[in-house]
Amino acid sequence: MAQNYYQKDRETMPVEDLKKLQSEKLVKQVKHVYDNVEYYRKLMNEKGVKPEDIHGIEDLHKLPFLTKADLRDAYPYGLLAKPIEDCVRIHSTSGTTGRRVVAFYTQNDVDLWEDCCARAIVAAGGSNKDVCQVAYGYGLFTGGSGLHGGSHKVGCLTLPMSSGNTDRQIQFMTDLNATILCCTPSYAAYIGETLKEKGMGPNDIPLKAGIFGAEPWTEEMRRGIEDTLGIKAYDIYGLTETSGPGVAFECSEQTGMHINEDHFLAEIIDPDTGEVLPEGEKGELVFTALDKEAFPLLRYRTRDICVLSRKKCSCGRTLIKMAKPMGRTDDMLIIRGVNVFPSQIETVLLNEGYQPNYQIVVDRVNNTDTFEVNVEMTPEMFTDKLSDILSMEKNLANSMKIMLGINPKVHLVAPKSIVRSEGKAVRVIDKRKLV
Ligand code: ADP
Ligand code: ZN
Repeated sequence: MAQNYYQKDRETMPVEDLKKLQSEKLVKQVKHVYDNVEYYRKLMNEKGVKPEDIHGIEDLHKLPFLTKADLRDAYPYGLLAKPIEDCVRIHSTSGTTGRRVVAFYTQNDVDLWEDCCARAIVAAGGSNKDVCQVAYGYGLFTGGSGLHGGSHKVGCLTLPMSSGNTDRQIQFMTDLNATILCCTPSYAAYIGETLKEKGMGPNDIPLKAGIFGAEPWTEEMRRGIEDTLGIKAYDIYGLTETSGPGVAFECSEQTGMHINEDHFLAEIIDPDTGEVLPEGEKGELVFTALDKEAFPLLRYRTRDICVLSRKKCSCGRTLIKMAKPMGRTDDMLIIRGVNVFPSQIETVLLNEGYQPNYQIVVDRVNNTDTFEVNVEMTPEMFTDKLSDILSMEKNLANSMKIMLGINPKVHLVAPKSIVRSEGKAVRVIDKRKLV
């Protein structure tokens, strides 16, 4: 397949040139942050490092980390590196794991962010011939604005639907010939489910590709969405702290997401010791924003666990790739001493023919963790015969035990009884934290 790029020079730049570019940008950026952000200047002083000590990316490890706790401490203006008059936008995290964080953008920051999203759309086959339906939430959440801006840059006809009102999503999609859908994977699955209920199939909708991200999703879930919507589904990654979606995006090879390394320098560290790990090892992803002006985080610890790879990609891009994040350090549940990621449960469900409609409930009773997984039966397997349900529950619990090394109590529930998400899905209810 002929490859298209949005910014070919950057996306296919020889790695040596890319590293040189990153080094030049890093030196400038560290000085900008040191001069303008008192909070980070203090952290650097405490570590005994000055901007003059940073000559290139080989010195990156000398800089202190920033964490989400720092962002909360510095809320709202403490990490701002530009006068408010120079800023044109604020966004905020979804608050999945606690108090929201706010991020600021100059016009240049917005521009570069939209370029990153445009790269993702073009990599998914998008061009000015496409109609791009943006069904990520608009507003403080970065998903809607980011893909909206990227879609404009590519020249797609943009349908700014925002999330929700699924019937209208389907109607506009068909009436207005939407070819690319952008939303969270859980919302894409829900749109697919609604389509089926209407007695419609992939041939009744014009979509050819989807750009889905903002939350973890498995390969199995990808295949499910691709089948129900009749599309190729591309992953996209980002976080508010680094601007939003578009930090990394998938190409046609679908074996990990290319990081827009000319703007974001990535490292993998051991989350316990902070030590930088060699390429190919699993650890916490850390980003340094090389071009951001208003909110330029250096060595920001994302808490996302993943692996980087510089293996040659058939799409021709030289940008390093990140594997699908397998969860966040704070997503990981420790149940009776065993590490459990929701993505592992999702993998089992999809392998066993269930849909990814589930909720994990953890509690502590008499000093022992309880671990329950509520799973929806699909309409095809639905039965009210108790003995059948019990045996299905037992089978599923066994498969989960094999994957996790710990035995959950599985409850099968009626189709459609677990609440659907139009944005990021809530998979875990951990009642232990409330005690
Ligand atoms: P919050 O931390 O409140 O959810 P954001 O809305 O900025 O804030 O979400 C960013 C986080 O979403 C990332 O750190 C990551 O954990 C998750 N995320 C984003 N895109 C993906 C993706 N494609 N795959 C897995 N996780 C993702
Ligand atoms: Zn590629």
